[in-house]
Formats: sequence, structure tokens, C-alpha cells
Amino acid sequence: MSSSVALRLPSIDGLLRHPACAPLAERYGRDSLLTGLRQLLDELRPGVLNGQLSAVEIGAEVLAGRVGERLAQQQRSQVRRVFNLTGTVLHTNLGRALLPDEAIDAVQMAARYPLNLEFDLASGKRGDRDDLIEGLIRELTGAEAVTVVNNNAAAVLLTLNSLGARKEGIISRGELIEIGGAFRIPDIMARAGVRLHEVGTTNRTHARDYEAAISPRSGLIMRVHASNYSIEGFTARVPTAELAELAHRHGLPLLEDLGSGSLLDLTRWGLPAEPTVRQALLDGADIVTFSGDKLLGGPQAGLIVGRKELIAKIKKNPLKRALRVDKLTLAALEAVLGLYRDPDRLAERLPSLRLLTRPQADIFAQASRLQPVLADRLGETWSVCAVEALGMIGSGSQPVARLPSAALCMRPQVSKRLRGRCLLNLEAALRALPIPVLGRIDDDALWLDLRQLDDEPAWLAQLPQLQVEP
Ligand SMILES: *Cc1c(COP(=O)(O)O)cnc(C)c1O
Repeated sequence: MSSSVALRLPSIDGLLRHPACAPLAERYGRDSLLTGLRQLLDELRPGVLNGQLSAVEIGAEVLAGRVGERLAQQQRSQVRRVFNLTGTVLHTNLGRALLPDEAIDAVQMAARYPLNLEFDLASGKRGDRDDLIEGLIRELTGAEAVTVVNNNAAAVLLTLNSLGARKEGIISRGELIEIGGAFRIPDIMARAGVRLHEVGTTNRTHARDYEAAISPRSGLIMRVHASNYSIEGFTARVPTAELAELAHRHGLPLLEDLGSGSLLDLTRWGLPAEPTVRQALLDGADIVTFSGDKLLGGPQAGLIVGRKELIAKIKKNPLKRALRVDKLTLAALEAVLGLYRDPDRLAERLPSLRLLTRPQADIFAQASRLQPVLADRLGETWSVCAVEALGMIGSGSQPVARLPSAALCMRPQVSKRLRGRCLLNLEAALRALPIPVLGRIDDDALWLDLRQLDDEPAWLAQLPQLQVEP
């Protein structure tokens, strides 16, 4: 004869009064605790009814523990710091450029206090937020005028719409690119109200192709820096200076979307050459657009620089108001641009440039130093080596150029059949650390490129918590 006494879940009131719950109420607030307990009890009720749970499993201590875990989980912010050891320095999915201290201080100031965002302190009258950085950008690029928006995609959209709406935009077929994340030049042109007039072929476009396309319907000529792929072999591209001359002869503006662009010639630091904004303007581009958080090394922003009367037209577009930057971005941008005034010290002060120029020998030494620690932690199943590796700049800068770097390379010492699973497990375990560690899987191994491992103590401190399934 079964003498089963039906189990009953504790009451909410009883739980709230229980000593195990008191610290939770203190820490997370009574309302959050109440919501958490209600949810948990609702989830457990079916299990209690069909007798799948024991008395211990629904005891007040256990329930308090489970609710505590959930509340802690909920309280942890969703925006989390990670270690970017992927080998891609300006990683779009990991937030691109890291800001220098000067910019972080400026952001703090702008966040904490009122500021002259649109207020001219000299006259006491209303100001324009672009004025805060216009002087610096003019000095650094030679542009006549400047306006700043949310990102470079916005810069391209706004420029096209302001200068070419209801007209034709002439562009080479070799430059009808997709940047990723659904940013495609033909689509953005359509959204901007510009009719696409493509000329030439994928690999070769000549001045005569542009010339033949020009008609009374033409509004502008556009050039896009092919940032995330490269065409090699039998190719032809009209130099910017020649294209500008052609555009101007027909009274059309030439827009150049540089993508990353650079304010300085990067070859002085041994990096691959990237077109500079100043050179594009010198060559005759009327408007140049580029990103704030790619090679510039600043906050997310889109910079539009060029001729005064065209910039004035762009600023009058009502879309400008929808795409404008906020005060935190402007504060950071001004601080970053300020560092460019002293190029000799830029590589020490600007994190992105410092990381991009970090010598391979340095990174290799770090890999050799960390190799025994990681090998010890991972045990026999894994071979861990310090090796030379190739990284990249990222964010569409120099897609084929590689940065000589060094990595910790981890290979599972298991049968070929199990290797894939083993690698995914290790990858997941690294992601589950308090500061998730992100590497890349390639050639049956997991690679941690150490170019960007600045905070070695924090990385080492959490290593004992790495839990890899055998
Ligand atoms: C990256 C890129 C963009 C988009 O810039 P965001 O700042 O990411 O919006 C546009 N055009 C080119 C050529 C690019 O490389």
C-alpha cells in the first residue's frame, strides 16, 4: 500500500520570510526576488504534481539558491568585455577600434556635465555641433568643410541623397560592392533616391566608359574603395585625378567613399599603404567619406569632408538630423583627432595603431611565456605551441595584407573523428570564462593570436576557471 503524501511547494510568503531569501531581497530588491520566485515555482509545479521532484529539490534552501543564481545572471550586463584573440584587429563584431585614454576622459566629461554641444561660447548664440571638430579635420585633411554622422554607411547615404536624388549616379561595375551586414552600394543608392548608372566591367573600367554615360540626367560620379576584396590580373581603373577632371569638365561632383581611409600614410609605420583622405581631396574628389572607428582609431562615426558648398547642401538635408552623432562620439572624436597633431607619438598613444604595429618578436615572446601555463591547464589531451601566425587589420582595410603575428596554437591529441567536437568544446569553454576569450579555429587547431593581449594578468587570473570537457 502506498502511503504517498502529496508534496507541496512552499508558499511565496513562507519563502520570502525564510532566512535563505533575506540576503537576496537585500541585494536585488524585493520585487525582483518576488518575480523570480513566482517564475521558479510556476516552472516546478508540474514536476511536483506528477511526483518527479523530491522534498529536498523543493526545499527553501534549494529554491533560494536557484533564484539567487538567476538573479545574478540577470543582473550581469549583456554588454561584456571580451579578449579579442581572433587575429583581426579592427573586428566589426567586437567593436572595432579601442579608444585612447584621452578620448575616454573626454567621453566621461561629456557624459557627466552639460557642454557646449550646440552653443557658441564666444557669441553666446546657438552653435552647430560640427563646428566642434571642423577646425581639426580641416587641418588634418586639407578639406574646406566637414560634417559628421553616425557611421560611414550613413555618410554615404546622406551624401548620395543630398547631391544625387532623382538623378543618375555613375559608378564602375568593379565598385558595386557589398560591405557586409546588408550594406550594398546599389541598394544604398536606390534608398538614397539615386538612379544607378553602372559603367565598365568588373575588372576594367576606362575614362571613356564614364564619359559615354554622362547625360543631362547625370547627378554625380561615385567611386568606392574596394575595401574587402581585391581584383588582380587584367585590371584597369581610372585614377582619381583623371576622373575628377572628367567629372568637373561636365559640371558633376565626384564622391569618393574611402571606407576606412587614413589620415596619415601608414607606410611610415611599416603597414600596407591605404589611401589618405588628404590625397583623395588633392586628386580632386569633391566629397570624401570615411569611418571613425576603422583605421582612424576613434569612435563609430562617419566623416564627410570636402567642398564647402556641397557640405552646406548635405547639412541642409533633413536626413542629417536623423543621422547625426551624439555628444559622447563628438567628444571622443575630437580627442582622437587631437592625437594626430603629433604623428611622431601617435603609435604610442592610439591603441589601434599601437596594436597594429606591435612587433612580431614581442608577440612571440609573450606566446612563449604563456605556452607552459596553458599547456599545464589543458593537460595531456592537448598539444599547445607558441607559433608564428598571420593576422589582419580587419574592417575592410587591406583585405589581402597579412600582419605577421604569433599565437598559442592548441591541437587536440585525439582521433580525427573526435577532433572537430573537441575543438568546439574548447572554444565554448573559452567563451564561458568571466571575460570570454575569442580565438579562431583553423586547420584542425584553435588559435589565440596574442597581438591584442594587452591585459595579460587578467587573462592569466581566469585561466584556472577554464573547464574543458575531456
Ligand atoms: C566600412 C565601409 C563602409 C561602412 O562604414 P561603417 O562605418 O561601418 O558604416 C562603407 N564603405 C566602405 C568602402 C567601407 O569599407
